[in-house]
Amino acid sequence: MKYVTLGSTGITVNKNGFGALPIQRVSRDEAAAILRRAYEGGIRFFDTARFYTDSESKIGYALGDVRSDIFIATKSMALTAAEFKEQLATSLRELGTDYVDLMQFHNPPFCPMPGHENGLYEAALEAKAEGKIRHIGITNHRLSIAKEAIESGLYETLQFPFSYLAAPEEVELLKMCEEHNMGFLCMKGMAGGLIKSGRAAYAYIAQFENALPIWGVQKLEEIEEFLACNTEEFEQDITPEIEEIIAKDREELSGDFCRSCGYCMPCPAGISIKDCARMGLMLKRAPISAYTTDAWKEEMHKIENCVECGQCKSRCPYGLDVPKLLKDNLEQYKPYF
Ligand code: SF4
Ligand code: SF4
Repeated sequence: MKYVTLGSTGITVNKNGFGALPIQRVSRDEAAAILRRAYEGGIRFFDTARFYTDSESKIGYALGDVRSDIFIATKSMALTAAEFKEQLATSLRELGTDYVDLMQFHNPPFCPMPGHENGLYEAALEAKAEGKIRHIGITNHRLSIAKEAIESGLYETLQFPFSYLAAPEEVELLKMCEEHNMGFLCMKGMAGGLIKSGRAAYAYIAQFENALPIWGVQKLEEIEEFLACNTEEFEQDITPEIEEIIAKDREELSGDFCRSCGYCMPCPAGISIKDCARMGLMLKRAPISAYTTDAWKEEMHKIENCVECGQCKSRCPYGLDVPKLLKDNLEQYKPYF
């Protein structure tokens, strides 16, 4: 079994982390069954966020009796010290614990630093001194902010989208973290559903020593696939078969594609941009029937109501021309209306 140590935190865990965003979509007991199976299979790192509605409370419910045996990472989108303290208090209550192992600033539009009038970093330091958090990390989707965080020396971990579709600058970011003795948490290791092979996704990330993939799972079979990857039986190197899968996906998914992060939303026209801006790709990569239901047709029709306000484009951390992307996807979808 492979393990990873997250830089200066010293946290050493199974090289499979649990991303607890999707368990918002299932019942409390279904979530508990998945979380429990993950724990029994050896997963010890659970990543959630205050923003993920009842995800924290489901973790507390499912894993409260093994709290001291696991590592919990959560996140706060607070923009002021007061909000940070309030959100941390809520997270601790929901998780049913008196500390979190890793507290991350959740995709802030700037890199929190000491001395800033928002007092965010000082609030995190105060919580650490009080024993409410053990380590301070940051998550982001913007290369510039991620680099600033690494170079600041203020953070012990960085969480960033990372999969075998990563651009060279993203691989560079991971290496920078290694040089700065920071842990690297990979979000969207399956590129938000575009990658279909968990084995290929795992094998690619397994090459990087300081990287911990945080798999977003909401089904038991998904967790089983990742657990099976981190065993003696599974060849963790990139085999020719896996190489072929990766090469094919890179060819098909090259260029600018929507990562489904949702930071461009909300849209005043009510368009579910994070789904609609990648519909063409999903039609190629999943059973078409899953995306041609009346509900999806209704969502895609909303693109016609785009008022070209440009808000989505200015918010997209990948610099995508979102209104154009939506129109292109609408064109690809038209045969299915
Ligand atoms: S440009 Fe169109 S899609 Fe983008 S936020 Fe405005 S209305 Fe929504
Ligand atoms: S268009 Fe950009 S911001 Fe919006 S979901 Fe896609 S990648 Fe994220």
